[in-house]
Amino acid sequence: MDKFFHSVYLDPELCKGCINCLKRCPTEAIRVRKGKASITKEYCIDCGECVRICPHHAKKSATDPLEIIKNYKYKVALPPPSLYAQFNNLEDKSLVLNALIALGFDDVFEVAAAAEIVSEMTRNLISKNKSGLPIISSACPAVVRLIRVRFPNLIDFISPLASPMEIAAELAAKNAIKKTGLDRTEIGIVFITPCPAKYSDIYSPLRKEKSGVDCAVAMSEIYPKLVHYMKKLFNDEMFLRQYREDISVAGKIGISWGRRGGEASGLLIDNFLAADGIENVIKVLEDLEDDKLKNLPFIELNSCNGGCVGGVLTVENPYIAKVKLNAIRKYLPVSGSHLKNLKEPECAFSKGKIKFLPVYNLGDTVAESIQIMQKADILMEILPGLDCGCCGAPTCRAHAEDVARGIASESDCIHILRKYIGNFTDKLKNINDDWTN
Ligand code: SF4
Ligand code: SF4
Repeated sequence: MDKFFHSVYLDPELCKGCINCLKRCPTEAIRVRKGKASITKEYCIDCGECVRICPHHAKKSATDPLEIIKNYKYKVALPPPSLYAQFNNLEDKSLVLNALIALGFDDVFEVAAAAEIVSEMTRNLISKNKSGLPIISSACPAVVRLIRVRFPNLIDFISPLASPMEIAAELAAKNAIKKTGLDRTEIGIVFITPCPAKYSDIYSPLRKEKSGVDCAVAMSEIYPKLVHYMKKLFNDEMFLRQYREDISVAGKIGISWGRRGGEASGLLIDNFLAADGIENVIKVLEDLEDDKLKNLPFIELNSCNGGCVGGVLTVENPYIAKVKLNAIRKYLPVSGSHLKNLKEPECAFSKGKIKFLPVYNLGDTVAESIQIMQKADILMEILPGLDCGCCGAPTCRAHAEDVARGIASESDCIHILRKYIGNFTDKLKNINDDWTN
């Protein structure tokens, strides 16, 4: 699998070249050339910011269609905690889980239940961690990808634990094999994704060869169908007869993972840092790199505002979703799943190592990089420093580097172009004057 596989892509037909996405991308992955945007795949972390901001819906997120579940004999849905926050007046999350069964799944495995296991294991990790360095949550794949390309010194801070989605997938597959006797290939483990980053993480996982999740359907696609079946469950005798009361497992700790601070609060400690929104995440990582954050055992970072409830594939406003999630938590036990006999499941540990990818190097060799940097420094002296984006690069520095690398022209900058035209007009005027004299 392509290590730069992405869910986020551009529909060039819809792109108007308005540069809104260019100004928003946190990794400077976007350029607008010849009136159309393009994404540098090495820089993109699938945060979805460009999908959120594009006024013309030209940036999209690829996910699997729901029909994909027909490819499997036995299908298990993995609903994340953020899914429960999408519905109005939901008092009991088992209604959503039963609607998934009514929709065509054979079973469900709550990601929130796996999250509770991660919470318990992270508590163990913190109690054993004598390094004095914080543990950074590994749950948000956009954050992990950002660290991989931009913060090599922080890679070792990332929690060695797998994400709740991966653990849920492994446990769900194990249960399904035990229950049905089917071969693993006949079982479909289907995640309901709130964001493109999780989709990319399934098709191109960073710490393992292959994800335990087989496919992922967008939350926004499944939402209207679930509403339909939730209504049916209330009114239709046939559906009511199939209703499974025991289906809901996760408690308050697991459900809270759907919003900012939820994962950290499940650690039952006071001194943690929880940040959301990709710009705030970058600031925290920069401070951490500068050694400004001391004596913090745990850092939770979410690329989306509000946490997973703010993912671009959700349907509810993240602030309202957070309130709804709090209401659902109210009557739940503190935690619904625990480590059996205090035994940590093997699948919860990520075996592979995240490797630094130096995608921001200017050249293939150090000498070439220095040469390009020097050239860009000289260009910076003539660029206006406005970071207006009109040249098609997000900043004057990015434009100078693009020109130095030979992938853009200095006259793409309209301020420079204006100067050229000014000089040319002056010259023309002088020629005319000479001629008439
Ligand atoms: S926001 Fe980006 S993708 Fe959308 S129309 Fe403008 S330039 Fe194109
Ligand atoms: S998904 Fe995020 S990182 Fe990728 S191009 Fe869009 S804004 Fe940039």
